[in-house]
Amino acid sequence: MKRPTFELHNSAASEGGACYVPVQAPEAAAAAGDDRKPILLPVPPDELPGKGYRKGQIASWLYKKGAREWDEMTDLPRRLREALEREWRIGEFALVQAFPSSDGSVKYLFTLHDGRRTEAVYLPYADRKTVCISSQVGCPAGCTFCATGKMGFGRNLTGPEILDQILAVAYHQGLAPREIRNVVLMGMGEPLLNYDNVAWAVRRMLARNALAMSPRRVALSTVGIPKGIRRLAEDDLGIKLALSLHAPDDETRKRIIPTAKAYPVEEIMDAVAEYFQKTRRRVTFEYVMLKGVNDAPEQARAVARLVRTRRIVAHVNLIPFNPWEGAPVEGTPREAIKRFAHILEAEGIPTTVRWSRGVDVGAACGQLALKEG
Ligand code: SAH
Ligand code: SF4
Repeated sequence: MKRPTFELHNSAASEGGACYVPVQAPEAAAAAGDDRKPILLPVPPDELPGKGYRKGQIASWLYKKGAREWDEMTDLPRRLREALEREWRIGEFALVQAFPSSDGSVKYLFTLHDGRRTEAVYLPYADRKTVCISSQVGCPAGCTFCATGKMGFGRNLTGPEILDQILAVAYHQGLAPREIRNVVLMGMGEPLLNYDNVAWAVRRMLARNALAMSPRRVALSTVGIPKGIRRLAEDDLGIKLALSLHAPDDETRKRIIPTAKAYPVEEIMDAVAEYFQKTRRRVTFEYVMLKGVNDAPEQARAVARLVRTRRIVAHVNLIPFNPWEGAPVEGTPREAIKRFAHILEAEGIPTTVRWSRGVDVGAACGQLALKEG
């Protein structure tokens, strides 16, 4: 049978450099093909194939031990494994390519069964292992500073395709899936424009009989879709919300974020305030620092005001811009980023600067686009 292919690329050495360089991946040859079987992940863990306790065994192999081949499930009788193998495919990806960065992070490029591609990044920290996953192929929002936005929109990822990024990364890192305790939806795409599939995947991340993650350790980053934020609050998934604010006023926001024309900042902030009231979880505001666009001291004070007037317990993440070829904007210099951070701090808003990782393979979370889609 046709197995998914894994390739390891020695890209850190070849790409080098400290700035963002999109990966030049070779054409994925193994794309199409395995459409003969339903995939396993959509099946609720309690309804997996097999009789009685076999279901529990399979769920455990899938979500606890992270098996990706029926052959690995050694406590199932061989005849059963063979029968299951004929009927069910486990993974969502036809091809998995890994691009390790010199700082320890690894970018994963997944070729889906229809030949499209999506990406995730594995980010090992001293105290936790994080995976940054995608929700769409490309992105319809088209933010000017974002390489994914520049690519345009491919399609929504299905729920299983979103979820399987975590399982596949764990597998290729030699980890059990549950060793990955942190997930951020900050890869390609706007998660709240693919709400149902994202919610499906998040539920499976949190489910005790699936990945059993703590909702505090799952974060969703959005460009700011008020309806989606409200739905997230109503659905009570309890996950962390990150809002890509990037500017405190509509005029500046509209220059860099096309969806700002449809959703004024006040309306987005009201939805975020509702999310905070409901979940009582500290909200993160992301702010990519763009030279001469959104980095003036007055803008820092305006950000602080926006947050304070709604009494949101907040944290601001300043993101140095990761340049990419053809980007129409430039990043704010390091010293000016620090000054902006100091103003926010002085205004009483806890602030950190997120110096990026994985930049030498274009893996910095949130700038996951590829030159060749
Ligand atoms: N669509 C969602 C989530 C994916 S992007 C969103 O926009 O929030 C994750 C984060 O990376 C966002 O805050 C986004 O604005 C930021 N980002 C995108 N391109 C970037 C770049 N070139 N440099 C720095 N941050 C970038
Ligand atoms: Fe889409 Fe987010 Fe990039 Fe904007 S920043 S284009 S919303 S992925």
